[in-house]
Amino acid sequence: MSVAAAITSVNAALTTLKAMRAIEKAYDQAVLKSQLAELMGNLSEAKMALIDAKEEISARDDEIKDLKGKLKKQAETAQFDGYSYAATVEGKPTGAPYCNACIANDGTQIPLSHAMDRHWLCPRCKGIASNVRKFP
Ligand SMILES: [Zn+2]
Repeated sequence: MSVAAAITSVNAALTTLKAMRAIEKAYDQAVLKSQLAELMGNLSEAKMALIDAKEEISARDDEIKDLKGKLKKQAETAQFDGYSYAATVEGKPTGAPYCNACIANDGTQIPLSHAMDRHWLCPRCKGIASNVRKFP
């Protein structure tokens, strides 16, 4: 369910309420009870939909917070020759570059490990990079 479902349920409840407001004195008690039951059902559905919507919004807030954290972390990098590096206070690249494949995949910054000669290996995705520069 969603906010749209909650709005639909509340609209149904309001329609029932309008019908009840038009009640005449000689109104049938059974009809009145039936409309009250319908009203309670509509409001219960609206409440459930709003609880679901609250959980969905909360999950999205967590995801936004997580993504903001990743963006902030990525802002603290320096670029060199097509690779991202951790940045010094002056904004210069330092250490080994991060794996481009892992950054493209999910934004995770995995520093490459030196394998042999001019070849570097990602410890996570096992991707290989060649001729990358390591900064002090
Ligand atoms: Zn990788």
